Amino acid sequence: ASHDSIRTVRTTCPYCGVGCGVLASVDNSTAKVTVKGDPQHPANFGKLCSKGSNLAETLGVERRLTHPYYQDKLAAMNGLSPSPSLTTLSTLVDNDTVIKAVDWETVLDDVAHRLSRTITEHGPQSVMFYVSGQLLTEDYYVANKLMKGFIGSNNIDSNSRLCMSSAVAGHKRAFGADLVPGSYTDFEDCDLLVLVGSNMAWCHPILFGRFLKAKQENPNKKLVVIDPRRTDSCEFADLHLPLAPGTDTHLYNGLLKYLTDNGHKDASYAAKCEGLEAALAAAEAWTLQAVASATKLTVEQVEQFYQLVAANSKTVSAFSMGVNQSSSGTDKVNAIINSHLLTGRVGKPGAGPFSLTGQPNAMGGREVGALANLLAGHLELDNAEHRQAVAEFWQSPESIRANTGIKACDAADAILSGNIKAIWIVATNPVVSLPEADKFKKALAECDLVIVSECSKDSDTIRCADIVLPAQGWSEKSGSVTNSERRISRQRSLMPAVGESKPDWWIFAQVAKRMGFKGFEYNDPSEIFLEHAALTSYQQHNYPRQLDLLAEIAAHGQPYESMQPLQWGGKHIDVVHANFKHKAPSLIAITPPKQAGAVNKFLSADGVHIVPSDNTSLPLRLITGRLRDQWHTMTRTALAPKLNQQQSVPTLTLHPKAAKNLGVLDNDFVCIGAQTDFKTQASKVMAQVAVSDEVRMGDAFMPMHWSDAFANLARVGTVIPTKVDPISSQPELKNSAIMVTPV
Ligand code: SF4
Repeated sequence: ASHDSIRTVRTTCPYCGVGCGVLASVDNSTAKVTVKGDPQHPANFGKLCSKGSNLAETLGVERRLTHPYYQDKLAAMNGLSPSPSLTTLSTLVDNDTVIKAVDWETVLDDVAHRLSRTITEHGPQSVMFYVSGQLLTEDYYVANKLMKGFIGSNNIDSNSRLCMSSAVAGHKRAFGADLVPGSYTDFEDCDLLVLVGSNMAWCHPILFGRFLKAKQENPNKKLVVIDPRRTDSCEFADLHLPLAPGTDTHLYNGLLKYLTDNGHKDASYAAKCEGLEAALAAAEAWTLQAVASATKLTVEQVEQFYQLVAANSKTVSAFSMGVNQSSSGTDKVNAIINSHLLTGRVGKPGAGPFSLTGQPNAMGGREVGALANLLAGHLELDNAEHRQAVAEFWQSPESIRANTGIKACDAADAILSGNIKAIWIVATNPVVSLPEADKFKKALAECDLVIVSECSKDSDTIRCADIVLPAQGWSEKSGSVTNSERRISRQRSLMPAVGESKPDWWIFAQVAKRMGFKGFEYNDPSEIFLEHAALTSYQQHNYPRQLDLLAEIAAHGQPYESMQPLQWGGKHIDVVHANFKHKAPSLIAITPPKQAGAVNKFLSADGVHIVPSDNTSLPLRLITGRLRDQWHTMTRTALAPKLNQQQSVPTLTLHPKAAKNLGVLDNDFVCIGAQTDFKTQASKVMAQVAVSDEVRMGDAFMPMHWSDAFANLARVGTVIPTKVDPISSQPELKNSAIMVTPV
């Protein structure tokens, strides 16, 4: 192709929270797309990982949803849905009873009418939106405004509940606001990187690469990995601590005591914080021996870790799902932050706690407040003046409610008990990803109205919908995302929309207008972004907060269309500085989780079987996680042949002793069931065995990605009981009691 026929668009990768910049080139004559890393983007400086590099392979119409349609969901759930496509849909209209194509005007009128009727008959608390960290900030903003400001309910939750809600809760307890005080440059500037519950080599590879490059140039930099599994990140570690799942708070309480006892407290910094004495009192019992005993590490391992932290004032503690996806996730986050507040290592070059966000726009969703317990613009739902300010800004017809809305893991019960009559699921696949996934599926079967907005043609959740709405995907839609270091980047359209698909913000706004609400007359995502920015700045003099986007935009002089990646709050946020707009930072007293070590009633914390195996089944502790080359439920990454090569079937990794006890070898098949007596106990999962001592004895690992759309009986969520953190309501996904049986 001649140079003139190539059009290059500056956009961002839609996968992980690193938020890499992408240069996407479109050959105008062939419509062929190629991607490479954007050398000017401050997240990745031109590099892309395997997922980002294969983005172009995931495009095309073949597996895309192209038209809105009605569906007989019970028939579809029984496998009778033919997965409509652009070419087949018109014929299905006439001769198929499972799905019926519909035009946008009709379906938007109908959705608005049915939501309004549900609200009239059952009240505003009878509807719920379940949205996603895959949405752009503009989509998220409109959904949240519609539900909280106009429908009059806080029943909007996001799949970020499964991803980041413990980090949100931990940040708010520590800093009075949900903010990450550091920057990606800290990963290069630190002398010690501690990864807690994070396989960064696979899950945030480009940022991990930045640390490794710096370590290569200066081998004195150290890496500690705290993870029950020996992951690929451990290949580069100076120390790996394979602690028993769920015992991180003991390790960090011990660290707090060790740093204090050995003279590493920054007294003047700690004096500016609250809660120091109570936190130290809670840590007092955690001697080296007590920590070693509770975590099943050796005293030498624990002491070596503590000595490394003590010796390196430039320490970054980066944490992700191994910390957040826990029934004590918020305490784990605060236990980590405590160690940084004690030593004054927060928001300084090369030092700080750092939450690695899982999804591309988890942070943007938090900024617009699209969780059931958040408001908008970093204002607080439990503050009457804040609610009043937002309602005034939106010109809401009524006041915003104070109560927390229905959260993700409560949705199934809310539907089954008849409290929720209509649910709208957007850009997420909860029939695969939620714990007790079969209960949620049953709930959708019984729900009066299930609307699903999606870009993929087939997913386990689409099969449970009454109404399916085609949304635009990456490469078509435009808007913005915020990455883990608070950097807002533009995601830009490079291709025309597939079929009749529409942006999610447009779909929400159209329904809102048809429900009779004013304030949704948007023509372009830039109008939404600027309204969101204005809300973050609204009444800053009365209710000051760190997020003030109008001020940031003014300072950087950035019009939306050509906006360069913008890090709000600056590179580091000094949480004890006079300019910090929130409360004094707090250390939190961490008491042992009541259920520690007791999640699996057949196993002690170190994996010894309390109840002998019956020789046919083995009780184990299930840890779920990601593969390097797949994303979420694979609806997009599985389209790229190269990305399917890493692992082509669902696997369960077993310790050699567990495999021997079960009498299974590599590549044999096993059946996984839940031990607990939750209602979907009959649910089971099939997986191929991978024998490896990378898991501890008593533990087993299975990737989270597989769904019935790709393999039979592969939804691992069906055997995970719902056990949530009491503060964040984030579910435990790394410590579930299972029973494994050879087949
Ligand atoms: Fe995309 Fe994350 Fe890979 Fe960057 S590191 S290319 S954002 S998946």
